[in-house]
Amino acid sequence: MRSTPWIIAIAASCAVATSALAQTYEDNLAAGAASTDQNHLNVPFVKPENAPSVYTSAGNWPIFENRGPLDRSPADTASKVLVMGSGDPSPNPYRYGPALAVIVNGYPYFIDAGEGWWRAVGKSVQTQGALDLASIMAPANLKYMFLTHLHEDHTVGLPSFISNPYKFAATTGAADKKVYGPAGVDEMIADINSAWRLDRNEMFQGSTVQKADGSTAVGVPVWPHVDDKGRKIFEDDNVLVEAFPTAHGFLEHTHAYRFTTKPDNRVLVFGGDGHYSEGLVNAAKDADVLFVEGITRKNIKYATWGGDTEEEKVEIIGAYHMFPSDMKKLQDESGVKGIVMVHVQNYNTPEDFERLGVLKEMQDEGVENILQAQDGDLY
Ligand SMILES: [Zn+2]
Ligand SMILES: [Zn+2]
Repeated sequence: MRSTPWIIAIAASCAVATSALAQTYEDNLAAGAASTDQNHLNVPFVKPENAPSVYTSAGNWPIFENRGPLDRSPADTASKVLVMGSGDPSPNPYRYGPALAVIVNGYPYFIDAGEGWWRAVGKSVQTQGALDLASIMAPANLKYMFLTHLHEDHTVGLPSFISNPYKFAATTGAADKKVYGPAGVDEMIADINSAWRLDRNEMFQGSTVQKADGSTAVGVPVWPHVDDKGRKIFEDDNVLVEAFPTAHGFLEHTHAYRFTTKPDNRVLVFGGDGHYSEGLVNAAKDADVLFVEGITRKNIKYATWGGDTEEEKVEIIGAYHMFPSDMKKLQDESGVKGIVMVHVQNYNTPEDFERLGVLKEMQDEGVENILQAQDGDLY
């Protein structure tokens, strides 16, 4: 059973979400933040006594996962965005790797395939009751994937996306997969097909059936026909998708995807990882909602990578990720109406850790209409 505070929190959130995204840090805190002394998940937790390791840093503690999924989508829109995985590369056992879906007319289009992709679908189906996700996520509907970039934490779920739905689709049928992404995605998909060929060709198709429906996947490179102005890469009866270049570390090709939904003309943008860039501003121009990463600036000295000094960390990590000043510039120049943060990198000491600390920094910087997502949220 869901606890009473959780239900109240959902009702409060829905009331706010019908007109715009929640406005303040306090609103965000109130939305589902009714915590217990233990944690939302009620899992056993013993505070680590030794210095934090990659596994036990405060960002991975269950006591900071103190709310369940919310429906924060406007009530009057036919299209929705489901956040199935809001995590980053950190081994947080309570957040799946990056995984989002635009849902239009009961059909899903996926953005990024992070760690635990197939389980993330299962979790959202069971915890987000605002849509009939069990029908929407039927294996025959799992066809289109758009990868923002080819870093491991955004792609390691691809074998699950390709193979698992097929295994469970004996009676319902499965879809052949089409994976759009930066240059190299065709090789990546071909390599995955090859690496799991025993499973795919022998165990589930029999040795004589090589290309059963629903068992194949192809990668479609978006590059090289994308400049800062963007380019249409996909269109069907539900959505139009344009790709834009972004800037993320030393990767040569990374993309933001701008979805325009046909039934209700919503503009939903997925920035992936990266800092401020001209391409990202154009992708998010006057959009309804931008889903994008965010990272602490105030506590960057506690980051576990990027150099020894704070100056080094600002320079190196700033070449990869979105500090609050970057987010503010991005919002001012793009005119994007609402921002939802995923892949939040919230470094801090256990004593001072705040679940919404990065969100607070963004709002202190002047970023407006910004929320922080949890797995299973709907926007
Ligand atoms: Zn990432
Ligand atoms: Zn990345």
